[in-house]
Amino acid sequence: EVAGAPAPTPALLQRREAVLGKTYTFYNEPLELVRGKGSKVYDAAGQEYLDCYNNVANLGHCHPYVVDALARQASTLNTNSRYIHPEIVRLGERLSATLPSYLDTWFFVCTGSEANDLAVRLARAASGKEGIVITENSYHGNTTVVTPLSLIDYDIKDKPDWAETVPPPNLYRGVYREGANDAGEKYAGHISDAAGILNERGHGMAGLMIDSIFDANGALVPPPDYLPLAYAAAKREGALTIADEVQMGFARSGTHMWGFEAFGVQPDIVTMGKPMGNGHPIAALVTRREIAERLQKHTGYFNTFGGNTVSAVVGNACLDVLQGEDLQGNALRSSAFLMPGLHDLMKRHELVGHIQGRGLFLGVELVTNRDSKVPAKLAARWVRERMKSLGVLVSSTGPHGNIIKIRPPLVFSLSDASRCLAALEQALTEVPAELRFATS
Ligand code: PMP
Repeated sequence: EVAGAPAPTPALLQRREAVLGKTYTFYNEPLELVRGKGSKVYDAAGQEYLDCYNNVANLGHCHPYVVDALARQASTLNTNSRYIHPEIVRLGERLSATLPSYLDTWFFVCTGSEANDLAVRLARAASGKEGIVITENSYHGNTTVVTPLSLIDYDIKDKPDWAETVPPPNLYRGVYREGANDAGEKYAGHISDAAGILNERGHGMAGLMIDSIFDANGALVPPPDYLPLAYAAAKREGALTIADEVQMGFARSGTHMWGFEAFGVQPDIVTMGKPMGNGHPIAALVTRREIAERLQKHTGYFNTFGGNTVSAVVGNACLDVLQGEDLQGNALRSSAFLMPGLHDLMKRHELVGHIQGRGLFLGVELVTNRDSKVPAKLAARWVRERMKSLGVLVSSTGPHGNIIKIRPPLVFSLSDASRCLAALEQALTEVPAELRFATS
């Protein structure tokens, strides 16, 4: 039990609202965090929390090697990529070594949204078409172009007619479910239907953008043939395939550096961000030279901060740590401990309807009844808040708000994993009876 952790003072919350307006904050009583180290963060009273949610601090909060590299470069030179510097070159070379060799040309930007925005521009320039296909409830960013591709936060009636959605491959509660051995084929079949709609509207299909963990859908694992068939459908339409690796990139799966690799597909464009700088804003896009040149022929691309000297140094330092500390291996080991722990817990708690995800990206679906699968949104919120009061940070997410998302820094140890499981178990045990069956 976290003893006496104070909420931020009402005065600070008021001042915040005065300058930022009413904003979304985590938790019923927002946390005021002041410090982080490894898998832990600390509030203003010094109370420790186990961070089971922050995938940006992949290497652990405030990793001293990365902080030191950042500080040294910040006090030496920080300028843009119009000047020649070895660090940006080295970063491109090292990242290329982790990807198929045909992906050879890099654009360095500052956010995942910028990378996806650029991916749409490239797909349009290379295909000569306009339309983009995404999965329902996806999130791909906040620019004017990718906001309509982020339907989880977007009013669907305002969807522009160049965007089409297909059902995400949800084998638990989607249109085709576990046991149907042609589910992958059926889900992928919707991509040709979406292309047909875009053709009728005169846009054609320029790109298929997919996040391989379907984050905003609560960590789905598609049938193994889904991505290959989806990519093949896109190629038949003359569309480019875009792997959004903002969530799964940099070894979160535990088995691969990039989420798409597990499915043996070959994207035309890969975008990445979030953990790339362990908190420093750096993101990127990689593609084939001939696709990159389509854009360069028209307008060129310049980004003042993208790939700046400090960002490039930080990107390289992060790769040093990720590879040097074998965090992919650690993710795999911790996941191999967490997964059976969650399944064990499911045996004791009827509220747990399904466990999904891979590596250190797991979703625990809470339901009021396992047969009807009615989402237990209120119970999920209660569990999230109770875990916080036990000093463990997770979120409740998904289109129905009933999925407990566990997505910790990759330094997550076995003892961190058992602490997370113990807090989840206690919270599930204590869910008030009236919330167990509550649907809204
Ligand atoms: N793609 C995915 C899959 C994401 O989860 C996010 C961020 N949640 C983005 C893109 C956008 O990244 P950013 O917030 O860095 O712009």
